[in-house]
Amino acid sequence: MITLSGKSAVGGVAFGKMSFYEKKEEQVRRYTVEDVAGEIARYQAGKVIAIGQLGSLYEKAVEEVGEENAAIFQVHQMMLEDLDYHESIENIITSQEVNAEYAVAVTADNFYEMFKSMDDEYMKERAADVKDVSERLIKVLEGRETVDMTSNEPSIIAAQDLAPSETIQLDKSMVLAFLTREGSANSHTAILARTMNIPAIISMGDALKNEYSGREAIVDGFTGTVYIDPDAETIALMKEKQNADLEKRQLLQQLKGKENVTLDGKKIKIYANIGNTSDVGLVLKNDAGGIGLFRSEFLYLENNNFPTEDQQFQVYKTVAQNMGGKKVIVRTLDIGADKQADYFDLPKEENPALGYRAIRICLTQKDIFRTQLRALFRASVFGKIAIMFPMIISVEEVKEIKEFMEEIKNELRQEGIPFADNIETGIMIETPAAAMISDLLAKEVDFFSIGTNDLTQYTLAIDRQNPKLDKFYNAHHEAIVRMIKMVVDNGHAEGIWVGICGELGADLDMTETFLKLGVDELSVSPSMVLSVRKKVRETDVSKL
Ligand code: PEP
Ligand code: MG
Repeated sequence: MITLSGKSAVGGVAFGKMSFYEKKEEQVRRYTVEDVAGEIARYQAGKVIAIGQLGSLYEKAVEEVGEENAAIFQVHQMMLEDLDYHESIENIITSQEVNAEYAVAVTADNFYEMFKSMDDEYMKERAADVKDVSERLIKVLEGRETVDMTSNEPSIIAAQDLAPSETIQLDKSMVLAFLTREGSANSHTAILARTMNIPAIISMGDALKNEYSGREAIVDGFTGTVYIDPDAETIALMKEKQNADLEKRQLLQQLKGKENVTLDGKKIKIYANIGNTSDVGLVLKNDAGGIGLFRSEFLYLENNNFPTEDQQFQVYKTVAQNMGGKKVIVRTLDIGADKQADYFDLPKEENPALGYRAIRICLTQKDIFRTQLRALFRASVFGKIAIMFPMIISVEEVKEIKEFMEEIKNELRQEGIPFADNIETGIMIETPAAAMISDLLAKEVDFFSIGTNDLTQYTLAIDRQNPKLDKFYNAHHEAIVRMIKMVVDNGHAEGIWVGICGELGADLDMTETFLKLGVDELSVSPSMVLSVRKKVRETDVSKL
């Protein structure tokens, strides 16, 4: 038995086989080959395998998301069969006497640029597809182990690190646990794992070796330990731990339907954070009072291109309807920094967390903003949608947003499209600037939601993505507690409610403090709703 350790990001125990997820963009090696004909044959064999994989993906997708959405895999198959693409690869192998992977990578780059420069919007959109399909082919040629999404066997996914865009695209039902060599507890990948309630261990370092792929393992997300080829004693112990965890969860189920009220009668709202329509089931299962943060950018990360107004409308409408009149706070696009989608073509930045992201993109590229706001307004008649804006630093930004919303409402009125006229609008308080001027901002909006993940990163000047800084990262730092108090007081002075939607909201060691400060709402990952409720019900604020 081999024992590995890392940092716990999400608790829970999982048993299963290890499977390594390879980064999409690995450096492709170039080397000369003597047997050119053999290399071409190798390329052709790889192509047949890749086309086969796409065929299976197509069939699976037809079942899961319907023919129309599955069609992309047929487009990918056609790309691999395209004559020009094929000729380019063969030419490079023959003329330069190089390996097939390299020829595919160069062809992919050329085709990417060619598609990108076309005037036709449809063709432009194919640029990302040609890259995607070529990466698949390169992986097949290199014989790299990848997560087989068509496999029927759920596995423990191990990786160097996982970008949010990669995590969101994994088939959740096939993931038993996440293990990464890098990663930090506040990264969006850890947050996603928490939302899915999948055990996760990060910062495992090089001890997490690719050679463990396919081997049986047990993940103890509570202690951050992984046992490869576990012995009988460990299996028995871990089974016991898993059962105890299950029992605890079942006990929490008894709190369903109960109020979030302290022993001395103080009430608080407990909502849930989601990234996707498929998380709504978890929200309802865990009896959250509403959705306090719908990270809408995950819609963008799942797609190969900007989601259209109609696509977004369908998503917001479904979530609003499924929540049956309970509040759904949708945060507008918060892309940039660690959340990147190729098609946004965002420039590389020295300090992405301090760069072109979130509301800054929306207020610059207003077409993107318009599409999302129109979709949100249209969906507002199907439930109780509220809109929230990320990364605010000034009153001017909020005024500009409000003016733009009026413009869009007028547009919709003129087009005879109905929308709810009482939509609550709020902002995230996640920059020190916003916290410091929260007295002024409170006059402009209906609510505040404190994003402690970014507020902590910007206040402590600690990159939330950097695991090296973990020992300096103090989520309970007095500066953060003071800012929360300041924001709550300033919000209440103007008669608006104040919630917390960052990860700190679910920190049970902080629940008493939040109650004492008068926080009105805590929005936490769905699996934490009942634990926070339990903590609230055991607290007596008058005695604090
Ligand atoms: C936050 O910053 O606390 C927050 C909730 O937003 P995100 O984690 O998506 O940046
Ligand atoms: Mg944030």
